[in-house]
Amino acid sequence: MTGKLNAMIDKETFEKVYSILGGVTPEDFDCGSICGQACCRAIDTDPDSGMILLPGEDSVHELTDPWLSWEDIDPEDIGYPEGEKPPVQLWFVKCKGPEHCKRSKRPIQCRIFPLLPRILKNGKLKIERNNMELPYSCPIIDGNAAIKPEFEEAVKEAFTILLADKDIWDFVKYCYSDEQ
Ligand code: SF4
Ligand code: SF4
Repeated sequence: MTGKLNAMIDKETFEKVYSILGGVTPEDFDCGSICGQACCRAIDTDPDSGMILLPGEDSVHELTDPWLSWEDIDPEDIGYPEGEKPPVQLWFVKCKGPEHCKRSKRPIQCRIFPLLPRILKNGKLKIERNNMELPYSCPIIDGNAAIKPEFEEAVKEAFTILLADKDIWDFVKYCYSDEQ
């Protein structure tokens, strides 16, 4: 996709995106079985680990729900240029591990890992492997294992919808896209 629109993503649209990403997995097997669910277990060894919600994603959650803890984010800490703030509060959430996970409510960052959306200089969306610094080892990333095309397609479909929102566009550009 190219260009950016200015639509607001509402709760129903986030729920649609959760549904698109709800039934797909990066591999044909449970990849958590080869790494001990490393991405979900990061909180065991790194109390600072967690997920950043997309702008507006909190609309599908209850801030009082005890399986997630919430911290507000200074946008500059996650890549926004100095003085540039989204009009909505950004949230960093921590879960209590897989035993407590409400899978139907797991955040988008959980659903798309180990992929990441990026916006290229030409304004096009590209879905790539997550190359951010992580506090754990993901065998799919480290072993450069193939990822199911259906999974990549679902992530692309989800972000084609989400990037219609200017705030999400800016978030992806500032937080994920680096120099492209
Ligand atoms: S995505 Fe990577 S770290 Fe997470 S469960 Fe699968 S293989 Fe393990
Ligand atoms: S919310 Fe669920 S899917 Fe996400 S890291 Fe926690 S246990 Fe894993």
